Amino acid sequence: MVMQRLGKNIGSYQGDRIQATEVLARIEKFASAQGWQKEPMPLENGLILPGFRRAGVQSRSRVYISSGIHGDEPAGVLALCQMFQEKLWPKGLDLWILPCLNPRGFDLGTRENEDGLDLNRDYQSLKAAVTRGHIQWLQKQPSFDFTLCLHEDWEAHGFYLYELNPDLRPSISEKMIEAARKVCPIDLSPEIEGRKASGGIICANPDLLKRPDWPEAFYLIHHKTRTTYTLESPSDFPMNTRVAALVAAVTAALEFAALEN
Ligand SMILES: [Zn+2]
Repeated sequence: MVMQRLGKNIGSYQGDRIQATEVLARIEKFASAQGWQKEPMPLENGLILPGFRRAGVQSRSRVYISSGIHGDEPAGVLALCQMFQEKLWPKGLDLWILPCLNPRGFDLGTRENEDGLDLNRDYQSLKAAVTRGHIQWLQKQPSFDFTLCLHEDWEAHGFYLYELNPDLRPSISEKMIEAARKVCPIDLSPEIEGRKASGGIICANPDLLKRPDWPEAFYLIHHKTRTTYTLESPSDFPMNTRVAALVAAVTAALEFAALEN
């Protein structure tokens, strides 16, 4: 496995792309074969984005996972597809999954949607139909014990994550980092994206007070959960490494949550 950066992303992501609709069709096939319920997200413009939910066996934990909000970050969508294909979901959890929030961005190969909006900055201003549809979808769901948002960062030197945890609840960040470390380098920079980081973990609590351009995680922390994790795979690495890092981290989080019951 190559553990060096490829160095091919200059100024923006230049790496492998996916056909999001094709990957989503595969996810849908796996999900329905495995008894997941469809929980689609209708939008004002007539588009319907796929969503899925599954009730656990004697579950007391509820976990929400989203991916694909940035159209130049394919590894999250692929990681969820692999998890469906390999049935990597622990039984003792109620799960909600939105595998791709910005399919048009993937068609265009852009971080933003078709109107040039960064959806992950839109959860306060609600300019995009998909953000409004997403919030309506979330309002129909119960609260979650924690949420995972899957992303990639083309500038990163390795895997890292953001934790929002204003009540300082027990954290699973280190478990996710340990799991990802087995398959992918961790970004050990003391500062990532202008924030203090330690061992690949950014405590994003201070952002809550000062940031007006809400990402998805901010909506979640204010309305649906008290702990969010935003996972960032390094997209200057080979795709199999990036996908493996996300699969490992998500699996570690879910297994831990299932054992806690
Ligand atoms: Zn992103």
